[in-house]
Amino acid sequence: MKQQVSARPDADGRPLYDVVIIGGGPAGASCGIQLARRGRKVLILERSKFPRFHIGESITAFGFTAFKELGVFDELDAINEVKKRGLEFVLPDTTFKIFFYPEGPEQRRPWAFQMARGTLDKVLLDAAKRQGVEVREEHLVKRVLFEGDRAVGVEYRDYSNGPSDELHEVRAKWILDASGQGATLNHQLRSNWYNDPLLENKMAIFSHWRGDVQIESPEDEINFKLCVHENRRDWAWYIPIAKDTLSLGVVLSQQTVKKESQTKSLEQIFDEYARDIPVISDLVKNPALKTVEKFRVVKDYSYRSKRYYGNGWTIVGDSAGFIDPIFSTGLQVAFNSAFALIDPLDRLLDQEKPQVSLLEAYHEKLDRYYRVNSMLVYLFYLSRLDYRNVYSPGYLWKHVEWAGWADRLACVWHGARFLTTRREVRRKWGSELLFGNPTKGNVLGDLAMALSRNYDKVFSKRAPRAAREEPLVES
Ligand SMILES: Cc1cc2nc3c(=O)[nH]c(=O)nc-3n(C[C@H](O)[C@H](O)[C@H](O)COP(=O)(O)OP(=O)(O)OC[C@H]3O[C@@H](n4cnc5c(N)ncnc54)[C@H](O)[C@@H]3O)c2cc1C
Repeated sequence: MKQQVSARPDADGRPLYDVVIIGGGPAGASCGIQLARRGRKVLILERSKFPRFHIGESITAFGFTAFKELGVFDELDAINEVKKRGLEFVLPDTTFKIFFYPEGPEQRRPWAFQMARGTLDKVLLDAAKRQGVEVREEHLVKRVLFEGDRAVGVEYRDYSNGPSDELHEVRAKWILDASGQGATLNHQLRSNWYNDPLLENKMAIFSHWRGDVQIESPEDEINFKLCVHENRRDWAWYIPIAKDTLSLGVVLSQQTVKKESQTKSLEQIFDEYARDIPVISDLVKNPALKTVEKFRVVKDYSYRSKRYYGNGWTIVGDSAGFIDPIFSTGLQVAFNSAFALIDPLDRLLDQEKPQVSLLEAYHEKLDRYYRVNSMLVYLFYLSRLDYRNVYSPGYLWKHVEWAGWADRLACVWHGARFLTTRREVRRKWGSELLFGNPTKGNVLGDLAMALSRNYDKVFSKRAPRAAREEPLVES
């Protein structure tokens, strides 16, 4: 049975809400906070009850700006137990550390929060509530409602009082899809998203471990390890999220997991691969550490949208696109895109006939974020997960597939611009890029974009990109 509820147009015929946001994760909550501050009437519909489990506990230091801007920095600082200071590569034969680039006049080593996402995401959603956003948890959006080509509302189920088949509708001037890998709108539109052609299908298997042992996370440690399997193709993350709790996960090819899972449980597959990964192999053998979450899997997760906005709708965060999490940039990109969206969206909401083209700059920014990130991850896999090969232009030049001479020349041009820049600036650009914050004017970003265009041509010669249809998340 379908039931119309509260959000009918008001007495002046305006929709009750300015914006309905699908999903109350970091992207949805940060959009909600900023819109409410601008006096907008916002409703967030979130399918879970917070706090809920979510993977992705490591944030980059650039997230500080976002947390300060969103007014949650002090609250997070008070509960955070582990400081992340960069990225440590652990290969079978060597290790290498990259610290966040020092920012600010005092030039101190910057650090980032590292904590359970259940905690972080609840802090953000509670901040949205305090800001005046109406948040309804255990409300699952089934689809976006369209009139012609214009999105006008959503249809949802309310599970807050137990299971229910009843469908409700709510209308708004604008619909923002922040449903993460649930990707509500892209599932509905079907042809608006595609698998990232550069990144082959990967799967992650992960859990949390807790123990009597004190997790090694001293103040001056990096506290984030990317550990490479002996086969130089698979890898694992080591992320302390509290003084006694670790997040560990292995990333493998989809084919491997499909084959192995015919005879083995997720835990067995994890254990088997962890055995040949430095650091992780010792940890899983430690009898003092026990898993405190079930083993979960996320499959085939690198994709992006063709369009990030349309008439009456915008997509933000993971629902817009997702890149292999090897450099832990997902949250940074989600915050960056939420910040890029709010000003043009706020202006649109004042217009009688919304000038949708105001969102074109947002589209371009997201396109750049995803392409640059995807290219970095691709080059790293191409380098057999060995940073020494990434630092060798000769190695990359030889292994990159070229569409033609014009693309090679474009890359040489950007490469020359990079090499003729001061070392300090180059390091800053490198750090920005690696940690998901490619600012305007970053020449390394231009180089990655040129490479991305080169690959567009390489792939268009082969086969058209397939729209993706499969659901992404299994748990
Ligand atoms: C294996 C793995 C490891 C990762 N590691 C990192 C990392 O170390 N660092 C990092 O920065 N990022 C990491 N990420 C990425 C990071 O988790 C995401 O980028 C981040 O969660 C994006 O936030 P979001 O708000 O867009 O989506 P989400 O955090 O997923 O929030 C979306 C919300 O929408 C809700 N929802 C979904 N569908 C509906 C619906 N139909 N109706 C109502 N609500 C709905 C969900 O319940 C959820 O709460 C990782 C991702 C994966 C898969």
